[in-house]
Amino acid sequence: MDINDILTHLGEDRANYFNAVAPPVIQSSNFVFNSVEHMRSSFADEFNQHIYTRGNNPTVTILRKKLAALEHTEDALVTGSGAAAVAAAVMANVKAGDHIVCVQKPYSWTYKLISKLLPRFGVDFTFIDGKNNKEIEDATKPNTKVLYLESPNTLTFDIQDLTFCAQIAKQHQIVTIVDNSHASPIFQNPSDFGIDIIVHSGTKYINGHSDVVNGVICSSHAMIRKIFDSELMTLGLTLSPHDAALIIRGLRTLDLRVRRSDETAHKVATYLYSHPGVEKLYFPLHPASEQYTLASKQMSGCGGLITIKLKADTKVEVLRFVHALKRFLIAVSWGGYESLMMPSIGFHEIPGMPDSPVHWTMVRFYVGLESADYLISDLDQAFNEMRQL
Ligand SMILES: *Cc1c(COP(=O)(O)O)cnc(C)c1O
Repeated sequence: MDINDILTHLGEDRANYFNAVAPPVIQSSNFVFNSVEHMRSSFADEFNQHIYTRGNNPTVTILRKKLAALEHTEDALVTGSGAAAVAAAVMANVKAGDHIVCVQKPYSWTYKLISKLLPRFGVDFTFIDGKNNKEIEDATKPNTKVLYLESPNTLTFDIQDLTFCAQIAKQHQIVTIVDNSHASPIFQNPSDFGIDIIVHSGTKYINGHSDVVNGVICSSHAMIRKIFDSELMTLGLTLSPHDAALIIRGLRTLDLRVRRSDETAHKVATYLYSHPGVEKLYFPLHPASEQYTLASKQMSGCGGLITIKLKADTKVEVLRFVHALKRFLIAVSWGGYESLMMPSIGFHEIPGMPDSPVHWTMVRFYVGLESADYLISDLDQAFNEMRQL
C-alpha cells in the first residue's frame, strides 16, 4: 500500500464520526451492549469487538491498522511502552525449559528481560555476536524457541543478516523477532526478509515528538491473536486512547521526519568522520563502516543516530566538549524533533554503581529536525573548546 494512504487515510472511517478530518479520542474504558444477544456475540469475538479498552478501543484500532500496513504485516498491537512490546513478543513464545538466542548488545531492558527476568521462570539464553552467521546457527539448541535480533542496535549499530536468520530459524521452528526501532518502517521492513515479529519503541520515530511512551508489535494474524489472548490481556500492556491519538498525529509526518533526520545525520557523520577530534565513527551507512555492504542491502536509509569515540586523553577534555555543546541536549532516548546526546561518561562514577562497560570517550548523538549547518557549527565550537583553541 502507498505510504501516503497509510499515513493519511488508512483505518479512518470518517463517516462514523461526523466526517471529522482528525479521528476522535474515544476516551472510554468500556462499551455498552444493546442486548444480551449483542453481549453474547461480542464475547464470541472478543478479539475484534469493542468491549473494554484494555483489549480494544476504536482510536487505538486506527493506529494498529496503520502500523501493520507500515511493517507489511497482517496485524499489529500497541502497548504502553517499547519494553512492554519486547517482553510480550518474547514471553508469548517461550515456556519453562526453552532457550533464547539473542544478540549480545540489545536495548538495556531487553537484556534484563532475557538475562534476569525470564531465567526466574526457567527460560535459558545465549547471547551471540550477531555479525557472524555461523555463530548464530551454532548457538541454536534443540530447545531454542526464539531468535531475538536488533538490527541495527542503537549504540554501535551492529546489524544481522536478516534473510539468513529468518531461513535458519524456519528450519528449526524458531520464532524470529527484530527490534526495528532504529531503521523505522521507512527504511527497513524485516517481514520482507522473512522475520516473524517486528517490535518498535514507538516512543522514538513512530510518535516522534518526545511526548508519548509506547510500543508496537507487528506480525501475522495468528501471532497477534496469540499475544492478545495471553500477554496483552493478562499483563494489561494497554496504550491509552489519548496516547494513540497523539501517535496517529505523529505518524502524519513519519516519512518527512525520518528522512530529514537521516539526511542531516549523513551530513553530520561526514563532518565527524573527517574531524581530527574523532577517533572512531559509528554510522551504519557511512562507506567506511564495517558492515556497510550488508547495511545498504537491508536498509534504504538509517536514521539519525551517530556514535563517536572522541580523541581525548582525559575525562576533563570529554566534559569540556560535552558541556560546550548547546544544540544537543544531554538525555537518553531519541527519535523526537530535538537533537540529543548521550555521553557515556554520565554512566561512569555514578554513586553506588559500577562503571558502564562503554568507554568514557564514547558519545552518542541523535540528530533531530534542525538543519545540518546549525548542528555542525555547534560541534565545531565544542571541539575547539575541548582542545582549548
Ligand atoms: C527505547 C528503546 C526501547 C524501549 O522502548 P520504551 O518505549 O522506552 O519502553 C527498545 N528498543 C530500542 C531500540 C529502544 O531505543
